[in-house]
Amino acid sequence: MKPPPFTYRRAASIDEAVALLASDEVDAKVLAGGQSLTPMLNLRLTRPELLVDVGRLPGLRYIRRGDDGLHVGALTRHDQFEHYPAPLDGFDVLREAAPLIGHHPIRTRGTIGGSLAHGDGSAEWCILAVLLDATITAVSGRGSRIIEADGFFEGLFTTTLEPDELIVDIHFPRPRQHAALEEFARRHGDFAVVAAAVAFDVEHERVTDPRIVLGGVATTPVRCRAAEAVLDGESPTDDAFEAAGRAVADEIEPPGDLHAPPEVRRRMADRLVRRALRRAADANREGVSHAG
Ligand SMILES: Cc1cc2nc3c(=O)[nH]c(=O)nc-3n(C[C@H](O)[C@H](O)[C@H](O)COP(=O)(O)OP(=O)(O)OC[C@H]3O[C@@H](n4cnc5c(N)ncnc54)[C@H](O)[C@@H]3O)c2cc1C
Repeated sequence: MKPPPFTYRRAASIDEAVALLASDEVDAKVLAGGQSLTPMLNLRLTRPELLVDVGRLPGLRYIRRGDDGLHVGALTRHDQFEHYPAPLDGFDVLREAAPLIGHHPIRTRGTIGGSLAHGDGSAEWCILAVLLDATITAVSGRGSRIIEADGFFEGLFTTTLEPDELIVDIHFPRPRQHAALEEFARRHGDFAVVAAAVAFDVEHERVTDPRIVLGGVATTPVRCRAAEAVLDGESPTDDAFEAAGRAVADEIEPPGDLHAPPEVRRRMADRLVRRALRRAADANREGVSHAG
């Protein structure tokens, strides 16, 4: 398939990109790594008149660990997490998740900003942004705005981002003592059928502020608040993790499709949450696992 005709402009600066996106006269879209947009163009699921290529904008490709957490530039490619040379102290689940995204060539081109803007409910960065209470900074002709990831994803490939907004930075404010991602995919490189991400701290031998976020059970990442409440304040034991898994299964309303009917997804969610919690609790854990 070939894409419909469009005008192509490569922006040399954030200001130029924002100015091109601000035009009321043309329907413009950002092009970053092209790993989601190109297939959508080829399938004619989107027909922008103008593509604004931001792929070579300077200064938007960084992973910075500092006192206020972790900042990641929107153009940071998936594989930059894999090859990050130092521990990400409290955010290592991001590095551990990166190899699960598609195949190597996709990871060398696709960007975290593109993944969030694309808004696939089973995408690793979308799930982990909600899990880790990330905020997303977007700029436009109206200035910049900070958007909480929890609430950013509205529906199938739909976010609260305005068409003229450019994501520039993703901020993960809070390191977690324990975090893990578990997922099941049919084949290596496929999107997960179901993914479960968990994070929590332990104080005085009790779980505090747990987060449980699922992918593949709705059109957006799903935060399981009832299951979080089941876990909150409990000892981090297998019994508590099993209760949380059961609570997740009760809480979600997964869809069925050719990959798995709702009941199978529900059972997978239960099992993956238990496994992720156990793995997260283990100090010597491998933080991510992928079955398929
Ligand atoms: C075969 C295949 C398998 C894949 N498997 C997975 C997987 O397992 N897990 C996973 O998470 N992803 C997977 N992906 C998707 C991949 O991760 C993409 O890289 C990612 O979803 C989009 O990033 P991109 O930089 O390529 O964005 P693009 O494709 O360039 O853009 C995607 C969308 O985001 C918008 N956009 C891009 N950057 C910005 C920005 N900075 N500000 C505002 N809007 C922006 C674009 O306008 C477009 O609407 C897969 C892709 C393929 C082709």
